[in-house]
Amino acid sequence: MVQGVGFRPFVYRIAVAEGLTGFIRNTASGVLIEVQGRPGSVGEFSRRLCCEGPPLSRIEAIVETALPPGEETEFSIGVSGSGEEVETLVPPDIALCRDCRRELFDPSDRRFRYPFINCTNCGPRYTIVDRLPYDRPFTSMHGFTMCPECEREYRDPFDRRFHAQPNACPVCGPRAVLLDASGELLDVPDAVAGAAAMLRQGKIVALKGVGGFHLTVDASNGKAVENLRERKGREAKPFAVMMRDPVIVSTYCSLSPVETEALSSPEAPIVLLRKKANDGISSSVAPGNDRLGVMLPYSPLHALLCADAPEVLVMTSANFSEEPIVTDNEEAIIRLGGIADFFLVHDRPIYLKCDDSVTVELSGRLRQLRRSRGYVPVPVFLRQGGPVVLGTGGELKNTLALLKGNHALLSQHIGDMKNYDAFSHFEHAARHLQHLFQATPELIVHDLHPGYMTTRWAEEQGLPVLGVQHHHAHLASCLAENREGGPVIGLILDGTGYGTDGTIWGGEVLIGDESGAERFAMFEKMPIAGGETAIIQPWRLALGYLWRSSPELPALPFMEGRPLGPVLELLRRGTGVPETSSCGRLFDAVAALVGLRGEISYEGQAAIELMHAAGPEAGTKAFPHEIKREKGLRLMLVSPVVMAVAHSVNRMVPVPDISRMFHRTLVNLFLDIISEAATVSGIRTVALSGGVFQNALLFETLVTELENAGYRTLTHSLVPSNDGGLSLGQAVIGRSYLAGRYLGVS
Ligand code: ZN
Ligand code: ZN
Ligand code: FE
Repeated sequence: MVQGVGFRPFVYRIAVAEGLTGFIRNTASGVLIEVQGRPGSVGEFSRRLCCEGPPLSRIEAIVETALPPGEETEFSIGVSGSGEEVETLVPPDIALCRDCRRELFDPSDRRFRYPFINCTNCGPRYTIVDRLPYDRPFTSMHGFTMCPECEREYRDPFDRRFHAQPNACPVCGPRAVLLDASGELLDVPDAVAGAAAMLRQGKIVALKGVGGFHLTVDASNGKAVENLRERKGREAKPFAVMMRDPVIVSTYCSLSPVETEALSSPEAPIVLLRKKANDGISSSVAPGNDRLGVMLPYSPLHALLCADAPEVLVMTSANFSEEPIVTDNEEAIIRLGGIADFFLVHDRPIYLKCDDSVTVELSGRLRQLRRSRGYVPVPVFLRQGGPVVLGTGGELKNTLALLKGNHALLSQHIGDMKNYDAFSHFEHAARHLQHLFQATPELIVHDLHPGYMTTRWAEEQGLPVLGVQHHHAHLASCLAENREGGPVIGLILDGTGYGTDGTIWGGEVLIGDESGAERFAMFEKMPIAGGETAIIQPWRLALGYLWRSSPELPALPFMEGRPLGPVLELLRRGTGVPETSSCGRLFDAVAALVGLRGEISYEGQAAIELMHAAGPEAGTKAFPHEIKREKGLRLMLVSPVVMAVAHSVNRMVPVPDISRMFHRTLVNLFLDIISEAATVSGIRTVALSGGVFQNALLFETLVTELENAGYRTLTHSLVPSNDGGLSLGQAVIGRSYLAGRYLGVS
């Protein structure tokens, strides 16, 4: 990453400092530098090149060649053959840097309290770029003409703002204003201070950030938070919060070194932290959850607001549940007018929607749960190059992935493809990705599910297409980000994915690699009584699982007041009852069975609450488990687990104990099946993928146990283990198809 991050001026400065002549220019794959001078100076230049680079630059490799000396008298920037200098990579949006932060709060600085301060090391990038080259006229800053002072900084290679495309100041740049709920301009001396005052009064403020609008409210004000939930139509899904600095964060949450580093990183993601017992934050912020999503202010506007406002602010994407984030001022006032009391907006347009990224530390490493702002469009580096291929992702948590050379370019988080807005966001992102990186795919890869919007879109593009199995794509995604070729034993634990047999998979052991996999084992199939309704009403799942497991239905508390008759009738008839081996559904069913949650209001809620009930450790007690052989396929039996849970409920075993035993049972079951797979295949590397691995308790216990048993584990950290990482796996499988190696899942 040496383009658009201040790398050329850096090289210019060290070359001049070492008294060297020559040039630096961008090439399609990086930069080319030629220097001439005394050997000692060249050596020193080489050393500084490696270790003093700008914060956002990343050097993969340096290749050195000796050349005969030539006639030259100076070091120059950007003299290429054609005389044109093209930036081929767009950097991500980067959080406010330390230098800009200092200037922002320095009363003697000309950018004191200027909400759009930035420099070569920080500021918006991806979200303000319309097209290449990454140059000011093609960004949303094109409408602002730099004042002489800004212009001077922009032109001076020794200035921190040399070629900082969004460079601006209070004289020449964007401005923030405060509007009321109907969009009328409020006459306040300082828009940010005005918004902060409203927040202190418990008002809801819509704030135009980097990749879209946020809705913000004082997190300590329970009434205000409830009010926001009510108006936004989001019953229980946890809200993220923003806090001024890590010291304040540490009063509410425990912080490890990895988490502290992540919070303060240039990517500034949301980090899911463990809550401390501290009643300063309203329980409505993240109900039923032992974690709190926290981020630090990453734009100067956020930093100013946090300095003036209550110390913990709810900071949630401004949209209605599961719709794409709102980016445009007028659109915001129309769509958010019923939610926000005030609007803190500005006149720098957002060209690309980009949600906040969400991460969590598991087993000592930072893991992506939603890879978006700050990370996109930094490529995921692949093991090898190949043809251009586009992966279209899945139906939920959608992303796209474009493979070009050894770069996997993933789109920002697009979301759930169940509404028209998300689909148009998807189409835009698909076009933008191909345009931005100037690549047309030779193949478009989609999910095997015939009904997905992404499948239909792929088929309409007039290019060769390939449908791949959902969980094979999860496996390939894990291999790809670890730059591994396999073959491996893949344990794929997921919510939903269309299987090669038309049933819904989601708890499979696949042995193979990106070109193909053998289904070695799966969970015993269970009925989804009521299809989509059962997904949002897990009590229906629980009833179906129980009915399948035991002919004589025990009476359990979760059944009270539920219309059991029609569900049982449905089960008996069996039509319109899909069969599934999903591990995610098993979690939902058990959560309902123990009486924890019969209905959910967001995906994964039941499973999260079940994990939360267990506490931090799985313990050693477990239910018995069983693996059955059936026509060469191994079945991990679900009925014995369901029955054991039901008996425990009957014996009034406390829910936390049942939850711990349930988690431990699964770990034991997986260890056994992996041991069988290792014996049969001779493979001792295990890849873990699928959305269920967001479950910290299951993931961390299993990883520890596998490593103790001598297995090598491959896990996700760069892309999500959930469907957000699916597109990467699809695209990589697509390359094996183009190479004539694809075998699919057998
Ligand atoms: Zn800066
Ligand atoms: Zn200016
Ligand atoms: Fe999935």
